[in-house]
Amino acid sequence: MKQNTALIEAAKSRRERLGATLRSHPAVQSTGAAPAALLFSPRTAIRNASVEHEFRADSDIAYLTAFEEPETVLLLLPEEDGCRTVLFVRPRDKEREIWDGRREGPEGVCANYGIDEAYPTDALGKELPRLLKGRGAIFSHLGRNTEDDQQMLSAVARVRAGCRKKGVWPRLFVDLSAALHEMRQCKDAGEVASLEQASRATAQGHLQAMKGVRPGLLESDLEAVLTYAFRREGARRHGYQPIVAGGENACILHYIENDAPLRAGELVLIDAGAEFQLYTGDVTRTFPVSGTFTQPQKEIYEIVLAANEAAIAAAKPGATLSELDQIARRELAKGLIRLQILDVDQQSAVTKMPFEGMPEGHPGKAPLDRFYMHSTGHWLGMDVHDVGAYHDGGVPTPFVPGMVFTVEPGLYFAPDDESVAPAYRGIGVRIEDNILISEDGHRVLSAAVPKAVAELEALVGTEPL
Ligand code: CA
Repeated sequence: MKQNTALIEAAKSRRERLGATLRSHPAVQSTGAAPAALLFSPRTAIRNASVEHEFRADSDIAYLTAFEEPETVLLLLPEEDGCRTVLFVRPRDKEREIWDGRREGPEGVCANYGIDEAYPTDALGKELPRLLKGRGAIFSHLGRNTEDDQQMLSAVARVRAGCRKKGVWPRLFVDLSAALHEMRQCKDAGEVASLEQASRATAQGHLQAMKGVRPGLLESDLEAVLTYAFRREGARRHGYQPIVAGGENACILHYIENDAPLRAGELVLIDAGAEFQLYTGDVTRTFPVSGTFTQPQKEIYEIVLAANEAAIAAAKPGATLSELDQIARRELAKGLIRLQILDVDQQSAVTKMPFEGMPEGHPGKAPLDRFYMHSTGHWLGMDVHDVGAYHDGGVPTPFVPGMVFTVEPGLYFAPDDESVAPAYRGIGVRIEDNILISEDGHRVLSAAVPKAVAELEALVGTEPL
């Protein structure tokens, strides 16, 4: 496995920062002892028979260690003078390494990853009680995985049993996500560099698919083009299952079959992002298979584009995803009213109303929601729907420099929706960009992928596959 010194150094300084945050947590201070944080990797999963699903490192553990092997458990022990890091990893095993690939082993992670102390993962039951003794609180993702919770709680029970006469055991269990995910929400310079690489690869994939498309190809042909371009640009994999949806398939929001023919006169929607050093792009473009938008397609496309551009224009420190969502909704509503698809005034078009059988806590539905079912953006980073709070007690999270998110308005007209004119039925358009908040505004990370009608028409089909 290749080690990346910059990533390893960045991970170490994140552990120090997180350790300091956890130590100064008010609840922890009440225990009068230092805390611990415990993170488990997800298990490898069987796909079928002897084939496993590809393992992809847990984002939190990779963020804090730059180490990506399966079966890793991370224990952070914040001290007054820094954060002691203990890692449980797969042991070296000549036989297994011949079959499954290289392993660092405990010695390797100490020598190459700046880890203070390491053990084989199967020594967790034996070592954890000793390491947790004297800690007043444990930060973890309690509730995420029962087996992991059980291992942690058994270790705590053993510490407690050993402390009957004297000693400190963990009495307080705190959710780790608030502290850790607040850190992950603001990207540092190294993370931005990874996102830029992911964006470059993502752009190449989209550009190649646009140039290569023509009637008679299959959606899968374009999926193959994306994968090839991503890998050629150094991306490890797709950041999520790509969507290549021709014609009315674009109205299925998470369409992933990607195997239908692409027909002349129809649009194709591609929602795909390359993952580079565990950071992913998340870009959607919609363009005509045969190179020219029909009039109704263009009308819808221009509305979505106006919403995309208006929302992006408002992205700056202090603004919120919720504000951008409202801006995009107003633009979409305005356009649909102009096309007489919505027969209400602009305010009513976006106003949520209760509906029959509405579940408790549901915000209600606005007339626009029939054609725009999702929201305009989400955080983006190591996870495509990245961690980070959307609000604090109902108040939307204000943007600060380093935050990264998507802006992805869309309009979708079901092929059997008789309430809209036949010309619009079966059209699905989404235009999604990736935005980084800067000191004085924003940067569009996906700017290299064209989206204006004229640009798309000039590009589509110029390099047939
Ligand atoms: Ca997307």
